[in-house]
Amino acid sequence: MSQDVEWMTDAACAETSPDTFFPNQSESTEPAKRICAGCPVAGQCLDYALANEFFDGVYGGLSPNQRRRLAGKSAPITLTLETRAESAETSRGEP
Ligand code: SF4
Repeated sequence: MSQDVEWMTDAACAETSPDTFFPNQSESTEPAKRICAGCPVAGQCLDYALANEFFDGVYGGLSPNQRRRLAGKSAPITLTLETRAESAETSRGEP
């Protein structure tokens, strides 16, 4: 399978520690999402993550659970701080 990945050269996260985008369960995804918010290739990044079924880490400004929902995949059974926060956001009608 060949995929165009030239967009990665314009990634806002190119100079950022990967740890920011793969926080552990007790850490927030918000720092990564803030970087993604200013990324000129966020759309390509999200498409790439969905096409390759990457459900770890932040891609395209979305958390793994947000991408799972977008892809119609079930969320993990284990509730983490992140999923609890997202559940609270969803119940308030936020994306
Ligand atoms: S959208 Fe976020 S994860 Fe994707 S390339 Fe841009 S900064 Fe990196």
